Amino acid sequence: MTTFCPELEARLCRYAAIDSQSDESSPAQPSTPIQFDMLRLMEAELREIGAKDVRLTEYGTVLATIPGNRPGPTIGFLAHVDTAPQFNATGVKPRVIRGWNGGDITFPDAPGLTLSPRDFPYLAEKQGHDLITASGTTLLGADDKAGIAIIMTAARHLLANPDLPRPEIRIAFTPDEEIGRGVDPRLPADMACAFAYTFDGGAVGEVEYESFSADAATVTVTGVSIHPGWAKGKMVNALHLAAKIIDTLPQATLTPETTDGREGFIHVYDLQGSSAEAVLRFILRDFERDGLAAKGALLQQVCAAIAATEPRAQITCTIRPQYRNMRYWLENDMTPVDLARRAARRQGLEPVSVPIRGGTDGSRLTEMGLPCPNLFTGMQNVAKTPGRADERPLPPPLALSRAGLLRPRLGRRAAPRYRRRPVGRNRPRPDGHSARRGPATAPQPP
Ligand SMILES: [Zn+2]
Repeated sequence: MTTFCPELEARLCRYAAIDSQSDESSPAQPSTPIQFDMLRLMEAELREIGAKDVRLTEYGTVLATIPGNRPGPTIGFLAHVDTAPQFNATGVKPRVIRGWNGGDITFPDAPGLTLSPRDFPYLAEKQGHDLITASGTTLLGADDKAGIAIIMTAARHLLANPDLPRPEIRIAFTPDEEIGRGVDPRLPADMACAFAYTFDGGAVGEVEYESFSADAATVTVTGVSIHPGWAKGKMVNALHLAAKIIDTLPQATLTPETTDGREGFIHVYDLQGSSAEAVLRFILRDFERDGLAAKGALLQQVCAAIAATEPRAQITCTIRPQYRNMRYWLENDMTPVDLARRAARRQGLEPVSVPIRGGTDGSRLTEMGLPCPNLFTGMQNVAKTPGRADERPLPPPLALSRAGLLRPRLGRRAAPRYRRRPVGRNRPRPDGHSARRGPATAPQPP
């Protein structure tokens, strides 16, 4: 039987009850004012536990330092305060199931809704563990309140035990990760560390250093608009051409619903417009640069082919980069990954590295010169699309074993040879990434 560290459990439940959802449609930074409820609370609590250099930046990130007492590279810990915008996040009522008996989990606020270990093999392994879930009508927000709770619990423990050996540790709690706007261009320099970890992963033992490489594409179709009554031989309907583009693209392959593991995809996720003009929005994903470029080329080819069928229409296809696979940089120096793996083994866990079918704040940080793998928190089943027979959102349970608690050993044997990378080597891009993490069923990276 595995129970939670009481402090970790209390923190997670308290933070999860605070609505701090982000909003993609808002141009503000952070996107929603409610994220300040979490940011200001973190700022106050970090001060309260004795962290140094605590500040809330103008770009909405809380920074703090845990002073070191041993030489070694400064290490960063990051988690995000926002929760996914896809579901109701107001009125979250976390509840703890003690020593789960392995049967179907029901929800106090949603009679009829069940979470069955038959549907979730990872959950099935957790019989006897304590679990935390939402009450049935909201998300739990363990993504990433679990990461915040883990870092805060470890920080308090380290600050209360100043003799525990550690290098300097920098903490950052960022906003808007869920909408791909969590990494401000100033963040890598403000972190001032040699490498960092996001605590934003799932299954216990995961040490992730591969994410998708991601582009976004916008296709604009301009037709010829004319009164339908006088349209014969003159009208060119932009919606028909947009439909042809979608229809010509692969559907039985190269889509999110037909790919898994290390396969990439072309995903059309939005179509808006009229017979006069239509705009299609795509995301392109692949783990390799070549594969990503090929998907962009295919989309452009299809647009050109449809444009050739109707010279009076205008079709433009604009592709812009979002984020890149962090492996490109981390494989040159696996020190941060190796340290995390060693720390996991010391806790009796076998580290697993699965490629993330999405991106993290660490993808952008790594690209910007701050190496940043992603570590597990124990959260599961986050931001699941409502699609079950009962068509209700599935509350994300959190199967966080005791081993999910960060033991403050992570920095203990930091490799002294490690040199800090130059920050800002790659210019940050103004666009964010919209990253969703897929199930942890992908094969191991090579
Ligand atoms: Zn997250």
